Amino acid sequence: MYIKPTTNAMAMLAPIIQNNVLTDQFGRKVDYIRLSITDRCDFRCVYCMSEDMAFLPRDEVLSLEECVRLVKIFVALGVKKVRITGGEPLVRKNALWLFEEIGQLPGLRELVTTTNGSQLEHQAQALRKAGVKRINISLDSLDAKRFRKITRVGELDKVLRGIAAAKQAGFDNIKLNTVLMRGFNDDETLSLLDFSIAQGIDISFIEEMPLGEVNHTRDSTFVSNEVTLKLLQAHHNLIPSTETTGGPARYWRIPGTNTRVGFISPHSHNFCESCNRVRITCKGELYLCLGQEDKVDLMPLLREYPHDDAPLIEAILGSMQIKPEGHDFDLRRAQPAVVRFMSVTGG
Ligand code: SAM
Repeated sequence: MYIKPTTNAMAMLAPIIQNNVLTDQFGRKVDYIRLSITDRCDFRCVYCMSEDMAFLPRDEVLSLEECVRLVKIFVALGVKKVRITGGEPLVRKNALWLFEEIGQLPGLRELVTTTNGSQLEHQAQALRKAGVKRINISLDSLDAKRFRKITRVGELDKVLRGIAAAKQAGFDNIKLNTVLMRGFNDDETLSLLDFSIAQGIDISFIEEMPLGEVNHTRDSTFVSNEVTLKLLQAHHNLIPSTETTGGPARYWRIPGTNTRVGFISPHSHNFCESCNRVRITCKGELYLCLGQEDKVDLMPLLREYPHDDAPLIEAILGSMQIKPEGHDFDLRRAQPAVVRFMSVTGG
């Protein structure tokens, strides 16, 4: 008997579909989605956005209900980890409602988020209560003036208070995300690690990616994680670890501390072969790779079939056939390979 997979039927179908998980043409299993719930951000980081960003009109952005519907479908298709991101996810009105809805989904192993920390002072407790297990907080400098220069508008103190609030809230894990840029903050590599050790939290160093056109050429600021690792090894005993958090970072432990040091190295250590994730923009575009243009537009299906999930399921299953083998980042190109900013695709 054919069961039309309406939202109600999804619950019945879930165990059947889960055995038939999302697998791409290269045999990679996709069990992780990153959902951007807004393209707006209260910062304007120099590597992430242009100074005069134009943001989307409201009706072109998924409603929070549409976001939850999509996540439910992906979880029924075997997705185990959901990261809510942006833009800055915590500046979206009623974002907490979305976290609460997703946090309760049976079958979802991990709800996590990435934030710039500016709103955490007031939202950390509620996020933890909603079921957010781990939180990534972006921090590129510990110098207030320099922090302002990199974010263009951000206030370091507010973010430091946000980190303190996150520690208080008792997340399973807190990790700082640092994009190192030559001439901007590469002289703070060690102090950012020492800060993480003092706070008892993790840190990941991210190589800058050529996403969207910014005011500098990407190769002028590029810092390889190989160089960063060597620098840190001169001061700390870093032991390679096989641990994974289901993302692209490779981790190192520092004995005698609670801190793991992660390296996200799209250039010096391409991580595409183990890619397990897809990204959904706040416009409902399902991007199969951060560094390629292949996508499926889910917004028209969401709006045309508000009570029938079958077309969406079909589109998502079909998208696995166009997931590219890997990204194509080349810093020497005059134009970026991908014109979308990270804030558009969702970091
Ligand atoms: N607003 C949130 C934040 O600041 O964490 C979430 C969105 S932000 C786009 C997610 C992550 O992407 C941040 O850690 C940011 O540093 C990183 N990011 C943005 N543009 C990048 C780029 N061009 N290369 C590498 N990382 C980038």
